[in-house]
Amino acid sequence: MTLNEQHSSEWFTRAQAAIPGGVNSPVRAYGSVGGVPPFLASGKGAFVTDVDGNEYLDMVCGWGPMLLGHGHPEVIGAVQEAVSRGLSFGASSTVEVELAEEIARRVEPIEQVRLVSTGTEATMTAIRLARGYTGRDLVVKFAGCYHGHSDGLLAAAGSGLATLALPGSAGVPEAITSQTIVVPYNDLDAVRAVFAEHPGKVAAVITEAAPANMGIVEPDAGFNRSLAEIVHEHGALLICDEVLTGFRTGPAGWWGEEQSGRTLGGPEVSGGWTADIYTFGKVIGGGMPVAALGSTREIMAKLAPQGPVYQAGTLSGNPIAVTAGLATMRLADAGVYEAVDVAANSIAGMVCSAFDEVGLAYSMQRVGNLFSFAFGDGEALGWTGANGGPRNEAEVKNQETWRYPAFFHAMLEGGVSLPPSAFEAWFCSAEHGDRAMERMEAALPAAARAAAA
Ligand code: PLP
Repeated sequence: MTLNEQHSSEWFTRAQAAIPGGVNSPVRAYGSVGGVPPFLASGKGAFVTDVDGNEYLDMVCGWGPMLLGHGHPEVIGAVQEAVSRGLSFGASSTVEVELAEEIARRVEPIEQVRLVSTGTEATMTAIRLARGYTGRDLVVKFAGCYHGHSDGLLAAAGSGLATLALPGSAGVPEAITSQTIVVPYNDLDAVRAVFAEHPGKVAAVITEAAPANMGIVEPDAGFNRSLAEIVHEHGALLICDEVLTGFRTGPAGWWGEEQSGRTLGGPEVSGGWTADIYTFGKVIGGGMPVAALGSTREIMAKLAPQGPVYQAGTLSGNPIAVTAGLATMRLADAGVYEAVDVAANSIAGMVCSAFDEVGLAYSMQRVGNLFSFAFGDGEALGWTGANGGPRNEAEVKNQETWRYPAFFHAMLEGGVSLPPSAFEAWFCSAEHGDRAMERMEAALPAAARAAAA
């Protein structure tokens, strides 16, 4: 079968004239897999349909938010009702309070929540707050962890272990990234070295609760707990970025999964640790622009208007967006997480079987219901992760990425839309049921053969 992509192709040509690269976020351009990105017209449950009428099983799920699947009737109903009352007031509305309460109810260390519109804003504000609270400037981040596109977090590793970072994008001044230190993920000694070299200077260490933006990289057993200990020993704050994992991997995010000790075939975890600031996005907006940061009352008191750390937003807490998020969060009960876990287990298992069938060397990384695959023989490629997969960004880069475009396009032909990059997590929703499994099963054999070729 060859996909009919006539209309998508025409729209992509038109888009490239009107919008840089034809897209409003780079990965959508299909740069690393090639071909024409489908322009999507609608979504229902686990499936999306493009402007040529092709229907795909959706393994992107809006890059995370669509935990309940597309077009959940109760979410849509709540939004429609809210729309009828007005789109934006620039003043407080009751749903904002309810969403803040819901987040704090689920993540125990959080006492107060500030709502913003994007994950980028949430992490940017978290860093400003950490600096304002500690009176220190330096921030430590892990290579390969993504925290949005604010200048200071678009930092690339310098040449040494604990050196100040270099700009990770054109247009980012060195004067800004020189306040960020980038260290390899899963490397606690590197974190210790930073604190030793910069005593009393580090405001915060920011980490993804579990990295999911270089594919999945599993935290070493006890990594987050030891990290929290080191950070706190030196009077700095730990920022746990749950924009992607928050309320997706479980009812209290990946932090909650670690506290409950649920491994689901992923890494060994240990609870008993607390971050100082948590950031959220994606699921808390249910597909609309809502993000948040949460912390203790004491730390949050530093934020304006109470404290001296400025933060604001015309659309912060927008009533329509927050209504979608609140409805999603209220519907995301134990049954939903179980359905997502079951779907993730089945799909991950099917993909592994298909790869095994054709004798392809690969590794699957997984944190709860999020997973990804890296092609290649881990031993030969020098992967040192606990599961035999890559343990940090340098190891992640060392994989047979050239197999992914063929695999991706064969899946697309088979009616399955995967993330258009080998370095992204796969997402399931609670609607990934029997029809999704049938579609996956039918598409996989040819795609596995294409990957192995
Ligand atoms: N933090 C993490 C862990 C993310 O995965 C992302 C986006 O993918 C962000 C922050 C930035 O969020 P946004 O794209 O909403 O600005």
